[in-house]
Amino acid sequence: MPDAFSDHIEPTLVDIILPLEQSEDTEAQKAAVAAKLNTKISQIVELRLRKHSIDARQRTIKVQLRFEVGVGESLAPEPELHPKYPTASSDAKNVIIVGCGPAGLFAALRCLELGLKPIILERGKDASARRFDLGPILKEGRVIEDSNYCFGEGGAGTFSDGKLYTRATKRGPVRTIYETLVAHGAPERILIDAHPHIGSNLLPKVVMAMRESIRSAGGEVYFGTKVESFIIHERKMAGVRTTDGREFLSGQVILATGHSARDIYEQLHAQKVRTRADTVRSRRTDRTPASTDRQPSIPHAARSGALRAIARS
Ligand SMILES: Cc1cc2nc3c(=O)[nH]c(=O)nc-3n(C[C@H](O)[C@H](O)[C@H](O)COP(=O)(O)OP(=O)(O)OC[C@H]3O[C@@H](n4cnc5c(N)ncnc54)[C@H](O)[C@@H]3O)c2cc1C
Repeated sequence: MPDAFSDHIEPTLVDIILPLEQSEDTEAQKAAVAAKLNTKISQIVELRLRKHSIDARQRTIKVQLRFEVGVGESLAPEPELHPKYPTASSDAKNVIIVGCGPAGLFAALRCLELGLKPIILERGKDASARRFDLGPILKEGRVIEDSNYCFGEGGAGTFSDGKLYTRATKRGPVRTIYETLVAHGAPERILIDAHPHIGSNLLPKVVMAMRESIRSAGGEVYFGTKVESFIIHERKMAGVRTTDGREFLSGQVILATGHSARDIYEQLHAQKVRTRADTVRSRRTDRTPASTDRQPSIPHAARSGALRAIARS
């Protein structure tokens, strides 16, 4: 019977271990790969590094490498990663996202992928301006309430080294997240390193590039805009009010406020708003089994720490 996938060719992946001093030597790599495949070195036309980790537990430091191998021919070129999001149409449904940390940024990108228009409201400043507000903490021990290490574009880790690994066993679409970061300027090494990190010099730029992707696809991002309360209409979420008196209206509100903004929880409690963590991934499967409300579910970066605010029914 013809197989619809018969044209699909699985890549040849080979794991090898080399001593540190040989690990960057192409000839040593080819020799080890050829031995593993039981073929001649001349047959190894191309090697593409897929995984790199250093084992320094013993006296002799070893490097574990995984290669995609072109046996007898070159590998197909890889497409370059660029930010590419569909522009939100003029009648796209608004989704309000409170917070411009990683959860808020990824929620916004996902909204665009699903044809929704994200509106990010962030109490802190953009990453360039925010940098100058770290001085008072370091020099005088004075914290600027809405612009500091925790609050502002990129969220709590913007000025950290941006390490991307965790001991948590909870796993989301890790590869997609890394590719999104690379598309916005993170080094390609993060796709292969066992303990990837972006680097404190680059991280703010990556964050700003993500914001530009959101804006250029029709999303909106407001800084210095602190959400103070929720607008509830007939016991349903209708939007948010900010400290400067503005109102942003939408029945869909994602809270991506991180763990440092306790005031938002006091407000939720005062207004009897309940929250729910959605794990929405696509239009077709956009309802969690636990979902009981009748409004269409909204997307957010699954497992990213964002919550959906729903008026208590
Ligand atoms: C110094 C430091 C270094 C770190 N280093 C790393 C690291 O290397 N690797 C790593 O994986 N993790 C690191 N983390 C942890 C990481 O930063 C957090 O896990 C991550 O930022 C959480 O993302 P989030 O989007 O859920 O929340 P946050 O990043 O906290 O973002 C929440 C955003 O919401 C905004 N906000 C809050 N309330 C309101 C409101 N009422 N109105 C409008 N906006 C609001 C805040 O200003 C903030 O920008 C570090 C954290 C810190 C503090």
